[in-house]
Amino acid sequence: MAGADAVDTQVVVVGAGPVGLMLAGELCLGGADVTVLELLDAPTTQSRASTLHARTMEILHQRDLLEGPGGFGDPLPPHEPMGHFGGLPMDLRLPSPYPGQWKVPQVRTEELLGARAVELGARIMRGYRVVGLEPYPHHIEVAAEYGGRRERFTTRYVVGCDGEDSAVRRLAGIGFPGNGAERELIRADVDGIEIRNRRFERLPKGLAIAARRGDGVTRVMVHEFGRPARASGEASSADIVEAWRNVTGEDISGGTPLWVNSFGDASRHAERYRDRRVLLAGDAAHQQMPIGGQALNLGLQDAVNLGWKLAATVVGQAPDGLLDTYHEERHAVGRRVLSHIRAQARLLLGGPEVEALRSVVGELTAYEPVRAHLAGTISGLDVRYETAAGHPLVGARLPEAQLPGSAEPFSALGLLRTGRGLLLVPARQEELRQRIADVARPWAATVDTVTALPPAEGPLTEVAAVLVRPDGHVAWAGDSPDGLDAALGRWFTPGGPRDTLPRAHPHATHAHVNGRRRNMGDLTGKTALVTGASRGMGRATAERLARDGALVAVHYATNEDAAAEVVAGIEKDGGRAFAVPAELDAPGGVHELFLGLERGLKERTGSTVLDILVNNAGVMGGVKPEDTTPDQFDRIFGVNAKAPFFIIQRALADIPDGGRIVNISSGLTRFANPDEIAYAMSKGAVEQLALHFAKALGPRGITVNSVAPGITRNGNPVFDIPEAVEAMAGLSTFNRVGEPQDVADVIAFLVSDDARWVTGSFVDASGGTLLG
Ligand code: NAP
Repeated sequence: MAGADAVDTQVVVVGAGPVGLMLAGELCLGGADVTVLELLDAPTTQSRASTLHARTMEILHQRDLLEGPGGFGDPLPPHEPMGHFGGLPMDLRLPSPYPGQWKVPQVRTEELLGARAVELGARIMRGYRVVGLEPYPHHIEVAAEYGGRRERFTTRYVVGCDGEDSAVRRLAGIGFPGNGAERELIRADVDGIEIRNRRFERLPKGLAIAARRGDGVTRVMVHEFGRPARASGEASSADIVEAWRNVTGEDISGGTPLWVNSFGDASRHAERYRDRRVLLAGDAAHQQMPIGGQALNLGLQDAVNLGWKLAATVVGQAPDGLLDTYHEERHAVGRRVLSHIRAQARLLLGGPEVEALRSVVGELTAYEPVRAHLAGTISGLDVRYETAAGHPLVGARLPEAQLPGSAEPFSALGLLRTGRGLLLVPARQEELRQRIADVARPWAATVDTVTALPPAEGPLTEVAAVLVRPDGHVAWAGDSPDGLDAALGRWFTPGGPRDTLPRAHPHATHAHVNGRRRNMGDLTGKTALVTGASRGMGRATAERLARDGALVAVHYATNEDAAAEVVAGIEKDGGRAFAVPAELDAPGGVHELFLGLERGLKERTGSTVLDILVNNAGVMGGVKPEDTTPDQFDRIFGVNAKAPFFIIQRALADIPDGGRIVNISSGLTRFANPDEIAYAMSKGAVEQLALHFAKALGPRGITVNSVAPGITRNGNPVFDIPEAVEAMAGLSTFNRVGEPQDVADVIAFLVSDDARWVTGSFVDASGGTLLG
């Protein structure tokens, strides 16, 4: 992006390496406005860190960055169960869906995290050198040079993700105590050489490592025992050729080094990760020898710990002290990892004097508890924040579990996709599930409650509920609601920011927006969800509500192209819409719907307020009663009756006072058709929603009504047969079949302010079919 003279942004992230990009994505996910400033004009093409450990893989899975489109996981990157501790081979596998280490070039990691950050709205500005920080009471100004000009960024917080020589850390005056490098490894990618692979070969004069990649390039690393470190990164091609010859006796001078650098065993740790409006993450906060990929993984995990806390702070949703927990939690983790890495560096680069120590450590790591302990630190799986006393799960990461669904199990970690808080309630008794969900209701704007059956195995079989922070760490777990409200209050704010447009008071006789009365056809500033909007009446309703000014979520099950076409058509006409997929009869389908819906709303409006809900998606039976199977019956009820109930239940956290709910029934609840008994039963059930919910929601001015279409043209081939159409037309007193727009217009009335006095009703939109 080209330069701008002065930019106002909520957070400036300095550094577009993997840590800065991960942080930018996390901040955007939490609703923050983010600008990333990067010194380099273009992303680096050098593949330095290439190892992702199990915890990082879990985090990527949590955010749908493995299996989602453009993710790493298609197919999953090469996987290696064996790692090392200071060069001593070690099996890194521990219970996790992604045990061991995964090989992903850093270029690829940056590409993925960068694309995600941009997609979520981050501004990435390249070619900027940060040269000044000026703190003010309520903001901080960042000065940066771009093409010889000085530019100013006004921001609430600045985060240095700018590496071990961090300009942000220096400008903020944050101390970086520790030890400089005493020993070094020279590292190069060399093309055109034929040498044998060596994992960690200790020779009399030094250590040699060589690994040939699929593309024929060999990664070479070498250390000469006793040779002091030069300044980081300063090695040349001649240096690696000479060191390799000294240690192995082999000549690699005929190869072409693609890049060469050196890295030492320096170990430094920032005194503070936060100083008022300045924060540090990744190598800017901790410098360590990049052994076994731990530096990158530590940094990515810093970013995920900080992202949601800082986002909540800048959008006004953070409880007191939330941001300070970043330093408290991550500084302690950094300290521990640094001391492990220093121990490893000594074992790896020490000369003959460490042989005895290596053999003792080798003996110890043969014991499973020792191996598991060290593998826990290397993989990041053992991180446990001292958040509160209580259940053993508290502070640790949410363990993955497959939760039973009505058809297929679904992933617990997958529920963290939106970066919101999660209250997962696998309690066995329904009554207990309800009591726990009731406690969390005031936090519905920031915490998703998902009730589920307990999984077949693992730690989640034994708790009634777990409260999980957006970074995947457990904030509370218990067998009863005791202590849940305190934990919710510690990590989340109840309520949350709402749409700032004035809203109708439920008792007002007229609704006004900015002093203007709204009539039917004016949904400006409102948001709507129409289920089953890829075709038929749902599509016509989405188009009509968008024409009336609403931002419309176009839900579909499988027909992605059709939904995209609806959205494109609405946008072409100047309206606003986005598509949301979800199979409503699949396990977790309603949750998936709301993940997509709330994310889409939040990106476009800054909040998850939903003014209008139209439960339209439906399936017909088309099978005679005597041939209907229990599976077919369950599917009909699942989509037509069960899903609308749970959609309303879930939507009530987002629907404001004065909101509108319309459920699509059918004339078949009043007009006999023995071929569609199961379908008609499901529609009879859905009509009950209007009666009972209308009563319950009246005090909030929310109306709930049923609309019953008669035969209405949809994509069914029967409408292409003139004789069939004629016969169907004869059922209507107007002697024609209904058009989707006939029903959409009725729905448009019911969701308008003009229909404020209609609730709990059954509206016949069958063209007089029910007159008999
Ligand atoms: P339609 O053209 O058959 O379209 C059905 C919509 O529901 C599609 O958007 C479809 O998504 C979605 N859907 C189907 N199965 C789903 C599932 N398992 N999970 C989530 N979404 C699913 O619909 P229509 O004929 O306009 O009917 C709309 C509503 O009116 C339905 O409730 C229907 O029962 C009712 N109705 C229709 C008539 C009629 O004559 N057409 C009469 C009375 C009542 P995909 O496109 O992705 O598959």
